[in-house]
Amino acid sequence: MSYQALYRVWRPQQFADVIGQTAITQTLQNALTTGQTSHAYLFCGPRGTGKTSVAKILAKALNCRHLDHGEPDNTCDLCEAINNGSLTDVIEIDAASNNGVDEIRDIRDKAKYAPTVAKVKVYIIDEVHMLSTGAFNALLKTLEEPPAHVVFILATTEPQKIPATIISRTQRFDFRRITAQDIVGRMTVILEDKGITYDEQALLVIAKAAEGGMRDALSILDQVLSFGQNHVTVENALDVTGGVAAAQLGTYLTQIGAHDPAAALTTIEQLLAGGKDAARLIEDLIEYLRDLLVFQQAPSLVNDTQSALRDDHFQTLAQTFTAQALYHMIGVLNETQSQLRLTNHPTLYLEVATVRLGEQPTASTAAPAPAAVPAEAEAVTALQAQVQALQETVAKLQTGAPVAAVKPKPKAAKHPHVNKQQLYPILGAATKADLTAVKDIWPDLLNMLSVTKRAMMRISEPVAASPAGVIVSFAYDILVERAMKDAALMTELESGLERLMGDKKTIVLVQQDEWPKVRKTYLSEMGAPKKTQPKAPTEAPVVKAITDMFGDEDNITIKND
Ligand SMILES: [Zn+2]
Repeated sequence: MSYQALYRVWRPQQFADVIGQTAITQTLQNALTTGQTSHAYLFCGPRGTGKTSVAKILAKALNCRHLDHGEPDNTCDLCEAINNGSLTDVIEIDAASNNGVDEIRDIRDKAKYAPTVAKVKVYIIDEVHMLSTGAFNALLKTLEEPPAHVVFILATTEPQKIPATIISRTQRFDFRRITAQDIVGRMTVILEDKGITYDEQALLVIAKAAEGGMRDALSILDQVLSFGQNHVTVENALDVTGGVAAAQLGTYLTQIGAHDPAAALTTIEQLLAGGKDAARLIEDLIEYLRDLLVFQQAPSLVNDTQSALRDDHFQTLAQTFTAQALYHMIGVLNETQSQLRLTNHPTLYLEVATVRLGEQPTASTAAPAPAAVPAEAEAVTALQAQVQALQETVAKLQTGAPVAAVKPKPKAAKHPHVNKQQLYPILGAATKADLTAVKDIWPDLLNMLSVTKRAMMRISEPVAASPAGVIVSFAYDILVERAMKDAALMTELESGLERLMGDKKTIVLVQQDEWPKVRKTYLSEMGAPKKTQPKAPTEAPVVKAITDMFGDEDNITIKND
């Protein structure tokens, strides 16, 4: 006997078997019992939520010779004929393949005739949104004057693509995504019937991956069963769904909580080496953190099956992180998620996020990070200075006094670390040859660093070099500051550079967005003395200077890993 897919074998045969759509099945049963059925139904909802199954049960119920409380008996000749697909009065059409006007015209012509055997002729049109405009018009004509013995059941995943004129002539039912608990419940029944044992967590992994679709869940279960026939394991479920073991996520977050980004990076490397992709990993982490938040706020909301998925770390982590820290971490990961959409280097961003998370004051036991205070105070001072300057300007405007340009004091500058004294000497002696030489050895230099430092430096890029110094641009300003203050890192970089290049060079970091401005300012200041020369030729030396120093690449790109 050939293997039959679970979702076919376990397709519900009665309304009572339909999972997670009680409101709909109840309404239909009531209508059937009281004889108030409609001529046209529209079943909307995500894939695998039971639309076609309910359509078939409804077709049986409309025809069954022994209807009981709105349920078909599945034993009379008509029910059996519908079940084995031999009843010509129940017609299933897949609009995705039969979308021509002719097919619908054909329905129109044939619908006029009374059913041959059945009581009611039922047309089930699946994926009805795929019909052409002409076909919709033809269908509308039939729906406007429906023959007494015909019922149309239209099913679609995309109701917004169906003309309003059609929708208004149907009774609409919206099928909901099936909850993970309901899906787990159904799988439990199936596995117990088959005498197959399972890990509860494995079923939850499958249910979550199916995202509310029973058919998808059962297809995944089919695949998992093909791995090992006798027992459904978490590992197999994770392999099929591409998910990440909760235990490893828990380990990772524990390392983050312990401010040990190096260990966390190792965990990430293991997960990635195991074939997980960065985007999915971030998604799983966000979900884990959300569960922690929910658990903190209302433990009862995290139901048993859900918390069963979570590992030994879960409860401890719920105590380790404050809600604020969790929100912050979710924020960092959300940000990373949007960056991933724009990059070909997802791993890189995941690593940077790890460093950021690991160095945040996340633990509830930790006192407010002392480092954060001076930075905040500095920002507040800067803002106060700006506000004061603005107030003075406003006051002068009101009195009609002449207004000088408001220039924030140097302290108020957004990026206090743009250090002309360090940058200009390097720019003054920069050559393209020096830059090329530094770029050549840069990957080797990074390989000499420890895992955390390497992760941080991988978003860096040498942008200018002289015989005595290198300017390195950095993607995140938060990391520029951290890296510059990290004396160990700077020493390690400079000594590595010396070892690789044979001579000592100073490294100066600059934030990526600041770099073009720094360069522009430098070039205009450098060009300033030339004002005495005729205007026209001044352009050329500046342009030439740019190409000499930096090559033709104007844009700084994140280094390819
Ligand atoms: Zn029957």
